[in-house]
Amino acid sequence: MKLYQIALLAESIIIYLMKFPSLTKFLVLIDIPLLLKGLIIIGILLILIAYPINSSLTKILSNNLGLKEITNQQLVFKSNFEPNISTDNISPQTSKPEVALGCIFVSSKSLFFSNTNDILAVINKNISLNIIGGYDDLVYLRDFGIDTNEFTRLRLEPAKKLKQLVNAAKQELIPIFISSGYRTYDDQSGTLEYWEALAGKVTASRYAAKPGHSEHHLGTTVDILTYENGLKLLPSYEHTKLRKWLKDNAHIYGFVESYPNYATSITGYTYEPWHYSYVGEEIALKIKRENILLQDYLYQLHGYCLVE
Ligand SMILES: [Zn+2]
Repeated sequence: MKLYQIALLAESIIIYLMKFPSLTKFLVLIDIPLLLKGLIIIGILLILIAYPINSSLTKILSNNLGLKEITNQQLVFKSNFEPNISTDNISPQTSKPEVALGCIFVSSKSLFFSNTNDILAVINKNISLNIIGGYDDLVYLRDFGIDTNEFTRLRLEPAKKLKQLVNAAKQELIPIFISSGYRTYDDQSGTLEYWEALAGKVTASRYAAKPGHSEHHLGTTVDILTYENGLKLLPSYEHTKLRKWLKDNAHIYGFVESYPNYATSITGYTYEPWHYSYVGEEIALKIKRENILLQDYLYQLHGYCLVE
């Protein structure tokens, strides 16, 4: 078990324990030193790590945990608790979240996990996703006749829609190659390491997400390339037929651009015109018509208000 997985599990256990009010009271309300609270949590964690953790437990934990389930009490708990966990991937929460009616104020330094199975989960530089349980409906895109690498996968619904998109583009004589779909934590570590080796840590952070923070973890996101510019993820992509066609048509199949040119300072990622996420036709149409950034739409949908 890797360090980030231990951190994810610890977070899951803490939130899961909060489902039991008496234990929550014990851990949160009684007047014991913070260090002792931390030791109790770590003790529980060590016991769980010492025993084989089967996938059903992790699945139950991940399936039961959604950001939407976070209540006032849980947020207070989080603000009082300073986890004794340190990884490269996850920063412990340092500031106190505020809660208002109908709107959860989320500090940009907050650490929350979105629901595993929600294709509209929020995942970005600030919010990571708990995918310990993975997905049951991942399919290989090659089995759908899509031109891609041998192991490229997506969840079933976006895969079906992507097939329709690819066929429609083909009719316009625009062949498509999918260079990336669903990624595991390890896949994302590899992607980030590749960019770090190529461009250095600072630049790489604008090209690739940290493990746990990539939209590719959702199983709904693809990088759509074209032979017209040699399958390159470079500015030359901007002037291809595929780029123009996607701008006009991707929403018809439920796909939207995640990292548009105007939003690089908001998303923290460089302009990625090839990176599309599946959100369903209805939402894709709304996002296109109203010219909303996907991240902002999802914040509204989930009732988050981001504060610095
Ligand atoms: Zn991508």
